[in-house]
Amino acid sequence: KARKRFGQNFLNDEFIINSIVDLINPSNEDVLIEIGPGLGALTRPTLDKVSHLNVIELDRDLVTRLKDDIKLSHKLSIFEADALTFDFSQFYEKNKKVRVFGNLPYNISTPLIFHLLTFHSLFLDMHFMLQKEVVNRMCAQPNSKAYGRLSVMTQYFCNVTPVLEVPPSSFTPQPKVDSAIIRLLPFDKIAQPTKSIKLLEKLTKIAFSQRRKTIRNSLKSLFEPDELISYGFDLKLRPENLSVENYIYLSNKLFEKQKI
Ligand code: SAM
Repeated sequence: KARKRFGQNFLNDEFIINSIVDLINPSNEDVLIEIGPGLGALTRPTLDKVSHLNVIELDRDLVTRLKDDIKLSHKLSIFEADALTFDFSQFYEKNKKVRVFGNLPYNISTPLIFHLLTFHSLFLDMHFMLQKEVVNRMCAQPNSKAYGRLSVMTQYFCNVTPVLEVPPSSFTPQPKVDSAIIRLLPFDKIAQPTKSIKLLEKLTKIAFSQRRKTIRNSLKSLFEPDELISYGFDLKLRPENLSVENYIYLSNKLFEKQKI
């Protein structure tokens, strides 16, 4: 039976499962990682296409089941580990980027995405099943309700596309929310890099923690009103009105200020 604390909702819909694997389009030469293989709904059809797959699973009982399945186990490298703290850089191979996918546990999806983004240059692409609302937030454009810290940080590192919606009926047990698959393609080279990712994180955290306030107030602890004006910002703007580029620009201003 499914464990709630591990965010277990197992895919049961053959058509959806095949559509997801088609979207991922695994090929034999790929260095592939699946996060949260569970009972193997995505693992099995993926293994029909590749000879080797790395999987990271936290639930010991599920790990045992995967290991006991002889058809699967000789093709799998099973890591019984917490994906939230997992060091993905161990998959680094020269001239070969890593592909990662998974039907993620929804209870930890946001911190997990932030953790994965720290390895952005390792990954060729990422395909994740998430709550549709989280997918919407990751893809959101400025001036919308869904736009926030997750949008800025994801779009800073990656090209982001929602690729498939999945209804609750495709899972056992059924989640209470709609789901969707997102495709993340980390940029080879970030066009306008921040001088400090830490400051970009800090800035967006502070800005969106008071998203109804104007930037004059929400960014008060970081910038004087006069500074914001001198950078060309209207003090009446709200955090959701600033673009990703605006946040990068402001993080670099913070970086310069720290140096003084
Ligand atoms: N891939 C399977 C499927 O689609 O049917 C299972 C998906 S289920 C939504 C999430 C899976 O992630 C479960 O197998 C769960 O045990 C595992 N999991 C939960 N937390 C985890 C963590 N911190 N690290 C790795 N796996 C985790």
